[in-house]
Amino acid sequence: MQSVPPVRVRSLNHQTVRPGSDFVLYWMTAFRRTRFNFGLQRAVDWSEELGKPLVILEAVRTNYRWACDRFHRFIVDGMIDNAKAVSKTNATYLAYVEQASGEGSDLVRTLGQNSCLIVSDDYPCFFHPAMYERIARKWVTAIELVDSNGLMPMRATDRTFTVAHSYRRFMQKEIPSHLTEFPEEEPLKRLKVKKLKSLPSKVLETWPTLCDGSDSTKLSKLDMSTLPIDHSVKPTGERGGEVEAGKVLERFLTKRLGDYSEARNEPEQAGSSWLSPYLHFGAMSAHEIFQKLTDKIGWDSSRLSKPNGKMNGYWNMGENVEAFVDQLLTWREIGFNMCSHEKNFDRYESLPGWAQTTLEEHAKDPREFVYTQEQFEQAETHDELWNAAQRQLVREGRIHNYLRMLWGKKILHWTASPQEALKVMIHLNNKYALDGRDPNSYSGIFWVLGRYDRAWGPERPIYGKIRYMTSDSTRSKFHVKQYIKNYS
Ligand SMILES: Cc1cc2nc3c(=O)[nH]c(=O)nc-3n(C[C@H](O)[C@H](O)[C@H](O)COP(=O)(O)OP(=O)(O)OC[C@H]3O[C@@H](n4cnc5c(N)ncnc54)[C@H](O)[C@@H]3O)c2cc1C
Repeated sequence: MQSVPPVRVRSLNHQTVRPGSDFVLYWMTAFRRTRFNFGLQRAVDWSEELGKPLVILEAVRTNYRWACDRFHRFIVDGMIDNAKAVSKTNATYLAYVEQASGEGSDLVRTLGQNSCLIVSDDYPCFFHPAMYERIARKWVTAIELVDSNGLMPMRATDRTFTVAHSYRRFMQKEIPSHLTEFPEEEPLKRLKVKKLKSLPSKVLETWPTLCDGSDSTKLSKLDMSTLPIDHSVKPTGERGGEVEAGKVLERFLTKRLGDYSEARNEPEQAGSSWLSPYLHFGAMSAHEIFQKLTDKIGWDSSRLSKPNGKMNGYWNMGENVEAFVDQLLTWREIGFNMCSHEKNFDRYESLPGWAQTTLEEHAKDPREFVYTQEQFEQAETHDELWNAAQRQLVREGRIHNYLRMLWGKKILHWTASPQEALKVMIHLNNKYALDGRDPNSYSGIFWVLGRYDRAWGPERPIYGKIRYMTSDSTRSKFHVKQYIKNYS
């Protein structure tokens, strides 16, 4: 029963599987999709092995930090897609949108009591690690966590990497063996075990709003105004879910990939893939992106060169495709490496020593502008380009990548201390960005403060040896007039 590479599977609590129980439970918490998902694939394996029906539970709680209409809408859009996809198979799909804080806290444990085991998603960031640690100590049902985060399994190494080129070198050496181990495109298609006849009555009585996927209209009509979440962060109009994710990928591959390396840096062009929200919510997998991309350009692994630790040359895919693959496989996955191995990945103390030293040496430098978190949030700085970026974040849940770097660097410049800058960046990024609360969020925010970077000269006030960026240099490099107008 090893269709999922063992390096991607771990037992959370070392309890014994109960073959005599009613069903296998797949608790979908991070890889919110039915395609290219090792977690779901593992659950299908178990269901077939034990001859027990498969039940998939996808839930969204109300009391996680930054819960708001924007993220709920994106997640519920995905639930609608998942409900439809599962309804064509032998599995049972249950969606649960918590109505009051804490109301759903015992649902999974109760369902678990009737299940042979629980298979769930091994995500190294946000509330997931603490939640699994809590559960591991208390629950008696066997729980397996499966890593379907990226092409490099998180446990392929024990070490963290301080700069991108050392991670890239490691990745280039290791990746060939993982290119032969892709998740199945639609694992549910091979599920032969019959559908579960009925759910435990205690579950249905206690959680009457639990929605059987065959009736996904309930999800479409969901009224979020009564939920105890932040209603000021509005949906962006961007649809979530795996169906939309597939369209976004297709659009990128056919229209934008061709001049990605130049266009991605232009604030006034939509030159990048815009896949990060779908990757974050698990509606799209890095494996599917890689597979569709290589199919499109007719690439196979016989074209790999010797590892060189560089962005270009190793893949033999051409400049634009290699630039994109570097974002997906180096910059995205170095973040998963950090979060899975460094418990303090979101703490100031996890910055490299040189960065902490230089920031400390400049902590008392006079600051011409010091803004509070509220002033940043309301886009009330003296800099119209920065304000435009912040308004884009609030309205659309995203900021163009180049401006996102500037956005962070200026928060460092205009706060009372680097610790305060970190706090402001984490709050604003995670409160508004659709792709926030992700390993990439911490890579980007900590990059502003020196992670994955080197010391730069000349030493400057406030920044010390940390890389420096200004709005004026951004204005001189890129066309930003229209951008500022759009978000004025
Ligand atoms: C201060 C700051 C905060 C950031 N916060 C986030 C965040 O919350 N979530 C997030 O996904 N990214 C974050 N990033 C990284 C980057 O801005 C986004 O990943 C990228 O802009 C997403 O757009 P895209 O999907 O069109 O990217 P593309 O250019 O199309 O890249 C494809 C994928 O590669 C990955 N990727 C691209 N650039 C980076 C990068 N610099 N670092 C890590 N992975 C990358 C993403 O998964 C992205 O979806 C942050 C960067 C900075 C400087």
